[in-house]
Amino acid sequence: MGGAEESQRLIPLHGFQRVLGTFGEEDEGPLFLITAGIHGNERAGVEAVQRVFAALREAQGTPAGRFKGRCVAFAGNLKGLRAGVRFIDQDLNRLWTKKGIARLLAGDPSLDDAEEAEARELLGCFEKELGRARGKVLIMDLHTSSADGPPFSCMGDTIPNRKLAFALPVPVILGLEEAIDGAMLDWFYEQGHVAIAVEGGKHQARETVDNLEAMIWIALVASGNLHERDLPRLGDFKRLLEREVRGIPHILEIRYREVIRPGEKFHMIPGFKTFDRIQKGTPLAEKDGEVLRATEDGYVLLPLYQGQGEDGFFIGRRVPRFWLLVASLLRRLHASRLLPLLPGVRPHPEKKDRFLVDPKIARWGTVQVFHLLGYRRRRPEGDQLVFSRRPQW
Ligand SMILES: [Zn+2]
Repeated sequence: MGGAEESQRLIPLHGFQRVLGTFGEEDEGPLFLITAGIHGNERAGVEAVQRVFAALREAQGTPAGRFKGRCVAFAGNLKGLRAGVRFIDQDLNRLWTKKGIARLLAGDPSLDDAEEAEARELLGCFEKELGRARGKVLIMDLHTSSADGPPFSCMGDTIPNRKLAFALPVPVILGLEEAIDGAMLDWFYEQGHVAIAVEGGKHQARETVDNLEAMIWIALVASGNLHERDLPRLGDFKRLLEREVRGIPHILEIRYREVIRPGEKFHMIPGFKTFDRIQKGTPLAEKDGEVLRATEDGYVLLPLYQGQGEDGFFIGRRVPRFWLLVASLLRRLHASRLLPLLPGVRPHPEKKDRFLVDPKIARWGTVQVFHLLGYRRRRPEGDQLVFSRRPQW
């Protein structure tokens, strides 16, 4: 690609520091954390963050500078950002499982690979901020993608996450965190914080920075850090995003993930954008010479058009908003008490708030029932599916 739509921005090296910005001191208010460039080839997030902090600093001392709580932004994969690559040794957004972090902390730092060292430093930064926070904590992780496509957000379906994600006028994708093991936001979820990821658009497109900036401002109002009367541009930011996502369903869930294993030759068929409609059987990609077709009708999400990465593409399906209302109601009624009555479902013998599901006995739709009730799928144990209740559902 190239041409007028792409801008060649050169961020000076000093732009890539671990702490990209801090604003506000009040420990009682909400703590809003932002991470940008967890993938080193996704620099637009860093630029968006720099714009926001420059504007905040400029407004300091004026009514528009009124800010409750604190906002801190971190660069994710510093070495990757400096080199302009997604990662050096491994994907920094895949090593945040409970076990992975425990192993990292027990290990010898001098033996860390590039991303383990990044994760270790980030953990220290996060813990320092979380340690001083007295109010609620929210995290927004900024991403961009190799394919064209409008902005959107991803979240685990908890009621507090919905509040933040639905404040942004962009589509929400459910279940991506379930499909990917060890995403950084998981580490925050497990501690009960509000955590969403946002995608701004194509890596180098100029509007990607605008989209990410707009999402940060709107989120700062939704979090309570800024009052909407102090952000005169709020309406402009919302309209900018609304224009980008016209005609796209508001809520989608992940139905399929195409995994690329080491050594496999994956090649996406050119021309797909995120949210393109596809029919069952549509040829999407080639892997080791074999054509991969859509497994069902839906929307193609995050088609991979870059060398690095282990997710070839996802297929999503529209979720009616009504369904989410049903879900909140069922959760409030504690309907999960009825789960063991479903065929093939039994409580986990050792772990609280977990269930084992025998896929040979369970009825079709059991996975959906678990989602509705605020459970997420975990790695299977033997031939049994495992579901656990989200910390804040
Ligand atoms: Zn990314």
